[in-house]
Amino acid sequence: MIPSAVSEENLPIADVLLLLPLARTYSYTVPPRLAGVVTRGTQVLCPVRRSRVHGIVLDVRGPRDDDPELLEIIDVSERPAWPADLMELMGWVSTYYVAPPGTVARTAMPGLFARRKAAVDEYVVFVRCPDSPGRSQRVLKVLDVMERCGSMEIGQARKIVPGGSDVVRKLLAGGYLRVENRTAAEFMPPSCMDDGDRPTLTRDQQSVLDAIPTEKGRYSPFLLHGVTGSGKTEVYMRAIERVLAEGRGAIVLVPEIALTFQLRTTFERRFKDAAAIMHSQMSDSVRAAAWDEILAGRRRLVVGARSAIFAPVRDLGLIVVDEEHDTSYKQQDGLRYNARDLALVRGKIAGCTVLLGSATPSLETFNNTANGKVGYLSLPSRVRELPMPCVEFANMKYAQTRGDEKLFSEQLAVELNRTIDAGESAILFLNRRGFGRFVMCRTCGRKIDCPDCSITLTHHARPDRLVCHYCDHHQALPGLCPSCGSGELGIMGFGTERLEEETQRLFPKARVCRLDSDTAGRTKEILSDFRDGRFNVLVGTQIVAKGHDFPAVTLVGVMLADQSLAFPDFRASERTFQLLTQVSGRAGRGSVPGRVIIQTYCPENYALRYSSTHDYLGFAVEENKLRRERGYPPYSFLASIEVSSTDAVAASSTASGIVEFIIGQIGALGGPPGQIRVLGPALAAIERIRGRTRLHILLKGPSRSVMNRLLWAVRGRFRTGAGDLRVTIDVDPVSML
Ligand SMILES: [Zn+2]
Ligand SMILES: [Zn+2]
Repeated sequence: MIPSAVSEENLPIADVLLLLPLARTYSYTVPPRLAGVVTRGTQVLCPVRRSRVHGIVLDVRGPRDDDPELLEIIDVSERPAWPADLMELMGWVSTYYVAPPGTVARTAMPGLFARRKAAVDEYVVFVRCPDSPGRSQRVLKVLDVMERCGSMEIGQARKIVPGGSDVVRKLLAGGYLRVENRTAAEFMPPSCMDDGDRPTLTRDQQSVLDAIPTEKGRYSPFLLHGVTGSGKTEVYMRAIERVLAEGRGAIVLVPEIALTFQLRTTFERRFKDAAAIMHSQMSDSVRAAAWDEILAGRRRLVVGARSAIFAPVRDLGLIVVDEEHDTSYKQQDGLRYNARDLALVRGKIAGCTVLLGSATPSLETFNNTANGKVGYLSLPSRVRELPMPCVEFANMKYAQTRGDEKLFSEQLAVELNRTIDAGESAILFLNRRGFGRFVMCRTCGRKIDCPDCSITLTHHARPDRLVCHYCDHHQALPGLCPSCGSGELGIMGFGTERLEEETQRLFPKARVCRLDSDTAGRTKEILSDFRDGRFNVLVGTQIVAKGHDFPAVTLVGVMLADQSLAFPDFRASERTFQLLTQVSGRAGRGSVPGRVIIQTYCPENYALRYSSTHDYLGFAVEENKLRRERGYPPYSFLASIEVSSTDAVAASSTASGIVEFIIGQIGALGGPPGQIRVLGPALAAIERIRGRTRLHILLKGPSRSVMNRLLWAVRGRFRTGAGDLRVTIDVDPVSML
C-alpha cells in the first residue's frame, strides 16, 4: 500500500466557539502543522474578517458535504486546553436544552466573554531571549529587565519603556514572554491537609465509604440517602481526600442557600489551597481568575452552587451533589439547565463516581435506584445518637385557635410559651413563596383542584375566579364545598410579615426575628443573632429549613402545611414532604430532644403522615403510584414554552400559533397522535412580571427524543426578537410559575 498524501479535502474540521457574543459555532480546517495538537478543548486563534479571535474547540470531526469553504486555524493558544469532558458536556447541554452553543458557553464560562481588563493578577513571565533580538533599544531594554526580574505584573511590564504595550505584545506573540494568572493564595506558604480534628467515622459512615468505588475511569453513580444529621458531609470529605490523594479532581455542588460562610470555612480548613470555592458574590473577573487556577490544575477541588458543574476541573474522580432534590439546582432563567442531572451526564462522560446526597431524594433519583441506574447507599441514623424529633399534628378543623385568621392552634401556643419560659428557642415555619392564594374548605379540609390536572386551582381576585395554571381551566368560586357541602370555604394563604406581627402580639415574652426573601441581605446577621439567643423565635420561609444548626431550637411549628400542599405544581406533595422533613430536622440538634407541631386541616394527607414518621420509603412508593396514574414525571417527560410580551395580544396570538404549529408537527414527525399532549396556552400563575404578560404551553410525552425534535422545530420557527416578544423553552421544568 502506498500511503496517500493528505489531500486538502481530508483535513479535519474543528467546530470552534469564538469568544465573542455569538450564538452559533464556526468551523475551521485544521492545517497539517497543527494536526493532533488541536483537539477538543484546545484554545485556538482563528481568522474572523480582518482580525484574529480566540476560540475554544468544541469538537474535531471529519469534513461534511454541507461544509462551506473554510478558513484555517491560525495557531494554538498558550493557554491550557479546557477539559475534553467539559466540551462534550456543553455539546450535550446545547442539544438537550434546545439552546445554541454560544448561550451554553456564556452560562458555562462566565467572565470569559466579558472584556477583561488587565487584571492586577495577570503576570508576564520571562521565557527566553530571541536568537536575533534585532536592534530595537526598546525591545532590548524590556528583555533585559524581564530576564532579571523573572516575572512582573503585566501593567508594570508595559511601563518599562514608552510604548511598552506594543513591545510586550510582540514578545508574547513570539513566545519570549508568557502570561500567567496568579492570585494572592499562590504566594502563601504551601500547607498540607490538616488531619488534626477529623471526627471518627461511625460504622455506617465507614461502610458507605468502603462501598464507593475508587476505580479510575468507571462511571459509578450513587444515591447517598442519609437522614438529617447523619453526617453525609464527612463522607463527602473522606471521598474527596481519597480522590485528591490519587492526583485527581472533584466537584462538590451545594444548594445556593447552603453556600454559607460556615460551609466555605469547613472546606477551606480541610482542603486548604487545593479548594476553589465559587459563590454568587464573585465578580466575573475573580471567577475567571479562579477558573484559570483550576484550568492550570493548581486547584483540584471546586465547591460551589449549580454553575460549578461547568468548572474546568481536570481528570475528574468525583462529583458530589449535596441535597440533590433541591430545586435551586435548576436554573430558572436564561439557560434552564438542571445541575443535578448534568452531574450524572458529566460523570458518565468523564467516567467518575457521582454521589447524590439527600435525606429526601427526588422521586426521579429514587426511581433510578429502583431500576438500577443509580446505586443505593444509606446512613439510617443520626450521628452522636441524637433521637429523631417527635412530630405531632394540630388538626385545625377542630382546634381552638388564637389570633386572626386562626393563626395559632392552642396546642402550638402552649408549647411555644413553654419553650420560651424554659429559655429555649423555636422556629415558626411558613411556606409561602411570595404568592398563592387558594380555596379550602375549613370543614373537611379539601382544596379545590383542576378536574383534569390534579393541580390545585389558584385564586385570582380580579375578576374573582379559580384558574388552573397547567391547562387554563377556569371556574367561578363555588358557594359550597363540592365534597361536603359546607359553606365554610376560605381563601387561604398568609405571609411571614403577618405571622411575625401576630407572634409578637400574642406572645409578649417572645423576641421575634424574621427570615425570608425580603430580608435576604441580612441573612447572616439574623441567623447569628438567633444562634446567640438575642432572639428566641425565628419566623421564616424555606430559607430557615436548610442546613442550619441551632442547638437551642427545641420546637418547630409548621404554621399551615396545607399552604405548601396547595401549590399549583404536580410536585407539591413531594416538596411538602421534603420541606417538612428538612424543617423538622432543625429541631433537637442540641442536648434537649426536639418537638415538631404541624398545623393542618388534613392530617390524613399521605405526605404529612409519612413525614411525621420519617418514612421516606413509604412516601416514595405512594407518590410514585400517583405519578404513574396521572402520567407525570418520572413516568413522562415535560417541557414548557413560555411566551411573554408587553403586548398581551401579541403574546396570546403567538402562543396560539405555537400550539397550532406543534400539533401540525406531531403529525409530521410520524409519532402516533396523542403520544405527546399539548396543554394550554394558559396564563402563567404569575401572569404579569414587569409589565409583561406571560403564557405557558406545557408538553407532556413518553419519549425524550420526539419531544426534543419538536422543541428544535419550535426554536427554528419562532424566533425571539419580533418586538419585545420572547419565546423561552424549558426542558424538564421544575416550576410553572
Ligand atoms: Zn368540605
Ligand atoms: Zn388543569
